[in-house]
Amino acid sequence: SENILEVIDLKVHFKTPEGIVRAVNGISFALGRQETLAIVGESGCGKSVTAQAIIGLLKSPPAIISGEIKFKSTPLDSQKVVNSVRGKNITMIFQEPMSSFDPLYTIGHQIAEVVEKHLGIKKKDSKELIISMLKKVHIPDAERRYDEYPHQMSGGMLQRIMIALALITNPEILIADEPTTALDVTIQAQVLNLMSELKEEFKMSTIFITHDLGIVAEIADRVIVMYAGKIVEQGSVYSIFESPLHPYTRGLLESNIKSSAKGKELPYIPGFVPSSTKIPQGCPFHPRCKHAMDVCKNVEPEITRVNSQFVSCHLYTKERAEV
Ligand code: SF4
Ligand code: MG
Repeated sequence: SENILEVIDLKVHFKTPEGIVRAVNGISFALGRQETLAIVGESGCGKSVTAQAIIGLLKSPPAIISGEIKFKSTPLDSQKVVNSVRGKNITMIFQEPMSSFDPLYTIGHQIAEVVEKHLGIKKKDSKELIISMLKKVHIPDAERRYDEYPHQMSGGMLQRIMIALALITNPEILIADEPTTALDVTIQAQVLNLMSELKEEFKMSTIFITHDLGIVAEIADRVIVMYAGKIVEQGSVYSIFESPLHPYTRGLLESNIKSSAKGKELPYIPGFVPSSTKIPQGCPFHPRCKHAMDVCKNVEPEITRVNSQFVSCHLYTKERAEV
């Protein structure tokens, strides 16, 4: 098929002492070959949990996972399949690069372990490959850095080494979870440029998770907007920016414009993301929505197609006509 990844009605809930946390509540989407798909939303919307479910990082229990995830039409449904794909065909980079490294081992040793595990190349034979990868992510003095430890690297450098670690197996899918959020603006731009550069070279598909719509505009082909564990809108980056349909998407765009104008983060959408143990009935966004109608409080909106976009909002469903 055209799609390298398919997610079908994925639900991820967690049993906690405070009740069931409904982190992801039935989402479906596909990732095309060599496509960059951005998943956006405020923290707690379920975007990171979605990524962790795809790559097989969630432990059940406590996670209760249902639905289907297919990589090149093969369901990732057994630990064996997940283990063979994870870290090789699907890899991930994180906001905090130290989470990818062990402070006790050299950079070279740690990348060599991944190479040995997934590519079957012995540690003594992989040094050249690793150094060429470090050069591709623009690490100066790569030969010397190979023998150094994570704490000897700057934040931006470690971020680039994490990218090298994620790409050395030549993955078909790279999942990036807020990889530039902790970096200052200049380094952030460098890392984003590097990622576009490597995407061309490695021809991979990317899922890019972020709350920053400026980044989305720069790198994504398509956008998924998540709210309270659901997809509220989906479309091409052009159509989402040109004609956002969902009131939440519009709020995000407006808050983003205001933030960048003032150079700081400004909350525009009044109210808070609901706790995932107490998601409101009907449309989960209704307590914050200035367009909320009676139907919104009781009936969950269906996904509706509007031109090339998909939106879950009663402003676009036939229920509205009945109000
Ligand atoms: Fe607002 Fe109703 Fe649309 Fe939800 S369904 S976003 S409450 S108008
Ligand atoms: Mg997150």
